[in-house]
Amino acid sequence: MTIYPRSTRAIALMLCLLLSAPEALLARVQPTSGSNMFTVDQEIQAGQEAAAQTSRQYPVLPDSSPVTQYIQQLGRRLVQFAPGEKWPYQFHVVNQKEINAFALPGGPLYVNVGTIQAADNEAQLAGVMSHELSHIIQRHATRAATKQYKAQVGLGILGAVLGGSVGGQLAGAGISFVAGSYFLKNSRQSEKEADLLGTDMMYDAGYDPIQLPKFFEKIEAEGSQGPQFLSDHPNPGNRIVYCEAEVQSLPPKRFREDSPQFADIHRLVMNMRPLTAQQIADQDQRGGFNPNGVNDGSTGQTSSGSRGTGYSASTNFQQLNHSAFTIGYPSNWQVYGDAQSAVTIAPQSGVGQDTNGQGAVAVGVIIDRYEPEQNVSLDQATHDLIANLRQSNPDLREVGNDEGIRVNGVSGRSADLIGTSPIRDSNQRAQRERDWLVAIERQDGTVLYLVFIAPQNQFDQLRPTFEQMLRTLRLK
Ligand SMILES: [Zn+2]
Repeated sequence: MTIYPRSTRAIALMLCLLLSAPEALLARVQPTSGSNMFTVDQEIQAGQEAAAQTSRQYPVLPDSSPVTQYIQQLGRRLVQFAPGEKWPYQFHVVNQKEINAFALPGGPLYVNVGTIQAADNEAQLAGVMSHELSHIIQRHATRAATKQYKAQVGLGILGAVLGGSVGGQLAGAGISFVAGSYFLKNSRQSEKEADLLGTDMMYDAGYDPIQLPKFFEKIEAEGSQGPQFLSDHPNPGNRIVYCEAEVQSLPPKRFREDSPQFADIHRLVMNMRPLTAQQIADQDQRGGFNPNGVNDGSTGQTSSGSRGTGYSASTNFQQLNHSAFTIGYPSNWQVYGDAQSAVTIAPQSGVGQDTNGQGAVAVGVIIDRYEPEQNVSLDQATHDLIANLRQSNPDLREVGNDEGIRVNGVSGRSADLIGTSPIRDSNQRAQRERDWLVAIERQDGTVLYLVFIAPQNQFDQLRPTFEQMLRTLRLK
């Protein structure tokens, strides 16, 4: 991103999700579909490559674990009622303390030990698993990747792209499906679709569907235990209301009592000492968890390669005290600017000059103020801001739609953009850049905005740092 004196950047609105309603099945809600450049086989292959990487980066319990066997049994019961493509579903448990669950494209599904600890009953576990299964069924991750790919390369060569090995090509396109990556972060639309389909699957499997939205509410109430989960599954609002309405539309039914197996497994996990996210990240730095799971597939090679060349971000944070805000940032990054000015916070190697001699940020965050026209909504102000940014970065484009977010209780808007990085590859070609814009309303009616910047193939690695910075932001 190029830095201009009073800052800024740019975009083109992307296509909306194309929704259609195919096959009629057991569940009453029809699974949605949309433009997808992946064939079913390619989607399965991409998910399995991501699963191999997951077992290297995370403490996945062995299939012999009674906890895993219980989750597998519960999963098999639910997928009997899964509509659509018969994906090769697999169920795993991650020995991690934080509440999380995630689904990879084409079948692999993971539940953290912390999620089982937090569940009050089997129906809540069935709820979170039905929700995740519904993301797989509706192919949300590959649809999101397709959308980005279209924004990146245009429509012309789609279809020809994924010919041979999927992994290498995805890495080349900056697409990764490993846990925590951008494409596993769902839109609110995808969330509602997963809730509704999940509601029907629970009903068909005999579980009280209301436990699905109840468990989501519980995770939100606990807050600090499930930040990754809440970030990947943003609350679309009114979860309980629309899930209840869906249940009301189905014939009355007696639901299962809680199972004795759940009680046994719950007691077992309450005595476990799962690892924290930080402990897992530290172990990943030291070589990961499951050396036997290492395959020589190109995906793993590519990602560890890019990690090596990356911009390191210390997990030790220090604080910037600006006249308009305070924010934490990695202690090995630098602040450019002063307490009154626009500031850039970046690793030293992340700033430089672009080919025109303009100051440019390849990695880091730009924080500045924007004065909107009087009496416009934050939504409108954000669109004006993006148009303004585009004046200095004409190829900047928005991926998907901007969304409302809360930043420490203050309302804001979040938008994902792609543009051109000042970094060149070895052939002197400009790399793609991903920019995450967050605009927040200040009490005086102006807008404080942050643009988190990284080359597209390194954004996912830096995203936890960016999210942590945003969590520490306080307006004055
Ligand atoms: Zn979700």
